[in-house]
Order: sequence, then C-alpha cells, then structure tokens
Amino acid sequence: MKNYDVIVIGAGVVGCAVARELSRYRLDIAVLEKEPDVAMGNSSRNTGMLHAGFTYKPGSLKAECAVEGNKEFDQVAAQLGVPFKRTGKLVVGFTVHDMENILKIQKNRRNQRRGGNGGHRQEADRGDRPPRRR
Ligand SMILES: Cc1cc2nc3c(=O)[nH]c(=O)nc-3n(C[C@H](O)[C@H](O)[C@H](O)COP(=O)(O)OP(=O)(O)OC[C@H]3O[C@@H](n4cnc5c(N)ncnc54)[C@H](O)[C@@H]3O)c2cc1C
Repeated sequence: MKNYDVIVIGAGVVGCAVARELSRYRLDIAVLEKEPDVAMGNSSRNTGMLHAGFTYKPGSLKAECAVEGNKEFDQVAAQLGVPFKRTGKLVVGFTVHDMENILKIQKNRRNQRRGGNGGHRQEADRGDRPPRRR
C-alpha cells in the first residue's frame, strides 16, 4: 500500500484548493472523495458568487479569508482557465431593518477599502445572509 504525506478527505472546493496549494511542496498527496467525481456537493450547487467579505463579522477569520481570497481570484481563475468577471454586487433592502444592515455593510466595506479586513471585532456575525425580507 502506498504511503502519503498528506491525505485530504473531501474533494470539494476547499479540499481541492488545499491539495493544489500543497502540490507546490515535495509531498505525496492524495485526495479522497466518496462521490464519483470532484465537487459534487455544495461546491457545484452554490450561486457562484465571489464573496468580498463585507457581510461577515468584521475582523473575523472568515472576513479575512474572504478578502484575501477575493484578491487572489483573478490570478487563480486565469491559472485554472475559469471564466471570471468582476461585475460588482448589488445589495437590496426592503425594510428599515434591512436599511440598518445595509449601512453596517457599507461601513465594513469602507473599512476594507482603507486596508483593513472589516474593522474591529465589534459587531454580531450576520453570516453571509442577504438582508431579511419581510
Ligand atoms: C445554496 C448555497 C449557495 C451558496 N452560494 C455561495 C456563493 O455564491 N459563493 C460562495 O463562495 N459560496 C457559496 N456557498 C458556500 C459554498 O458552496 C461552500 O462554502 C463550499 O462549497 C464548501 O466547500 P467544501 O469543499 O468545504 O465542501 P463541499 O463542496 O461540500 O465538499 C465536501 C466534499 O467532501 C466529500 N465527503 C464528505 N464526507 C466524505 C468522506 N467521509 N469521505 C470522502 N469524501 C467525503 C463530499 O462528497 C464533498 O465532495 C453556497 C452554499 C450553498 C448551500
């Protein structure tokens, strides 16, 4: 039986990205997937949007990863031959509550533009949900 330095379990986008990154090193790597092909789970059933991180908790690892990953995407997409276009994102609200959330998002985005990953750890994590609809 062959021995590996690293075995990644799950060939979704995360497992594949980890294996790809590790392939830059002198390592024997295997990716184990229970389905017949890669990315047959969540990774092929999402909305295909590249998150910018401004809807995540400011200062969180999730926000940091989204911001860093977003920056790398032009290069990664070009290397992998994946068609990719930056179209911008329109955040729409319908209620006063939505407006409050949109103002928070706007503040996060401004902080990001100033070079941070969304500011301090001060706001509750609203996840990546769009503003609530009544
Ligand atoms: C409705 C929806 C919309 C979304 N929209 C977006 C979006 O627009 N933009 C965005 O960035 N993200 C979006 N996401 C989130 C994104 O799809 C996930 O964060 C991402 O696909 C997770 O990747 P993953 O590799 O961690 O998981 P998965 O893609 O689920 O991969 C896990 C893999 O592990 C395999 N596996 C599980 N158990 C085992 C085992 N025991 N042995 C071997 N293999 C195993 C599974 O078969 C699967 O292939 C969305 C998610 C959902 C549900």
